[in-house]
Amino acid sequence: MLKRNSLRFAAALLAVLASLVVGPSAALAAAAQHHDQVPGFYGLKVGDLEVTALFDGPGVFDQHWLKGTKARLDEVVKALHEDSHMLDASETGFLVNTGKQLILVDAGSGIWFGGGAFGRLTRSLRSAGYTPEEVDLVLVTHLHADHVGGLTTQDGKRVFPNAEVYVAKAESDFWLSPEIAAKAPKDAQRFFQSAQAIAAPYITAGKWHTFRGSEPNVDGMQIVPLPGHTPGHTGYEFSSKGQKILFWGDIVHAQRVQLQHPEVTVVFDIDPIAAAATRNQLLPKLAREDVVIAGPHMLFPGLGRLHREGSGYSWTPVAFTDQWVENAPAPQKY
Ligand SMILES: [Zn+2]
Repeated sequence: MLKRNSLRFAAALLAVLASLVVGPSAALAAAAQHHDQVPGFYGLKVGDLEVTALFDGPGVFDQHWLKGTKARLDEVVKALHEDSHMLDASETGFLVNTGKQLILVDAGSGIWFGGGAFGRLTRSLRSAGYTPEEVDLVLVTHLHADHVGGLTTQDGKRVFPNAEVYVAKAESDFWLSPEIAAKAPKDAQRFFQSAQAIAAPYITAGKWHTFRGSEPNVDGMQIVPLPGHTPGHTGYEFSSKGQKILFWGDIVHAQRVQLQHPEVTVVFDIDPIAAAATRNQLLPKLAREDVVIAGPHMLFPGLGRLHREGSGYSWTPVAFTDQWVENAPAPQKY
């Protein structure tokens, strides 16, 4: 009996093996790896506004760029030993289609910053279905090259030929002043040079506009002065149907450090005390309100909300969906 069963088993096994050889053997072959990635954009509805994050490139914030007490910085170094990804960041610009105007908020680095690691914003914009020619307005949070470099090619041509560019007057006056540039420390010189070269073709074309308190005429958009990081650092808040989104520029560079410890500043802050004060005023307000934040250096897509956590804040990224929220079924409860 035992023997017969063993024979039957052996026969069955042979049959299975044979079927594997002639039949579905392909299913067992190793699948080829595919290296295509999703395109670098992500869309979100805010009321009637279509907001699209446009990826410019991945970055890592250098620990030496952080400024704070020795105890705090020692803590960061220790945490970095345990988690080497703690200072991972992104470069992102944002597109707002209001239905009437196509508005870009910051333009990424182009060739002016990051030694070629960034500068993918235009490609991301095309992937999202737009062309640079369609952009009507560019709202600039500040004139550091990683936010405006994408405006201008290496040979001084406008990347967005039909766009009117808006920047705070204090910002434009500071970075475009030859006198201030001449007095600036040596390592700050490159920021002045790039700002001037990037702005030049828009100034020549009469498309460089500066504002003091309020100006660019966009329905439902409010200018939010956020000085400190740079003299005219500006946020832009859009509202539609009771929903709000704030494009906050460089309020936070290293999200894992500065949300827990908003007093930590960065070497690029022109006025670190003002930068920390601005952050300390803004973060509690954003944690109280239901406002989407668009942060160019928050991990892509840089869209999320703030909540109080202990003595600091935590960041909740927007939940991914592959459908426009208005068309999508409501999220399922588990
Ligand atoms: Zn920046």
